[in-house]
Amino acid sequence: MSFKVIANFKSNLTQKEVISWVKTVKPTPNIVVAPSFIHLSSFLIPNSSYALAAQDVSPFPPGSYTGAINAGQLKDLGVSYCIVGHSERRRYFHETTSEIAGKVRELLSAGITPIVCLEEKDIVPQFAALDNELVPKCIFCFEPSADIGGTTTAPHDVIKSVQLKVSEFAPNSPFMYGGSVTSDNISRLLSLGISGVLVATASLDPTSFNQLIHNVTHEL
Ligand code: PGA
Repeated sequence: MSFKVIANFKSNLTQKEVISWVKTVKPTPNIVVAPSFIHLSSFLIPNSSYALAAQDVSPFPPGSYTGAINAGQLKDLGVSYCIVGHSERRRYFHETTSEIAGKVRELLSAGITPIVCLEEKDIVPQFAALDNELVPKCIFCFEPSADIGGTTTAPHDVIKSVQLKVSEFAPNSPFMYGGSVTSDNISRLLSLGISGVLVATASLDPTSFNQLIHNVTHEL
């Protein structure tokens, strides 16, 4: 897998801002965009579309689950990846490790790659809940909630030690990092040998995101 920069917009940006973002940031093989569900289709541009990620998915198959968006619907729209288990989902929406495992199951059966976010404390319970045979098909992302929303990443030795712990459960899965990644610190993160980064705050302004992508492509 080539190095990926996932732009996680979280619950931000209006339609007008999304249109301006699309005009400013050219799709490249490194970029995966994770906008709100309602903006996913704005990134489907004929002959030049971005790789798309959803920020969440229903843990259920199609059916009578009012308000839920299922994995097959995301696949049908052109979504390739889906973030699951983000600390904000675990904290504010009370998502459990078994619900997250259910989402992973739904995603993989629809052909979407799950990006499973974990803090250090989640590693053991989350791997216990996941179906063993599905683990090699997932991407894992270390997202320490204490390091989200700033400008300084977690210390590199902590990222390396979590990478090692995750590799004990998922030796063949790509490992990413997320939390306060900016255009200033991205180059040093690349030296860690990770497979990608999840970027929220620094992805919202298209001009600064372009700078971050420029720094990534320059270093690779
Ligand atoms: P941040 O958030 O880039 O604003 O730190 C990362 C994330 O939570 O995905």
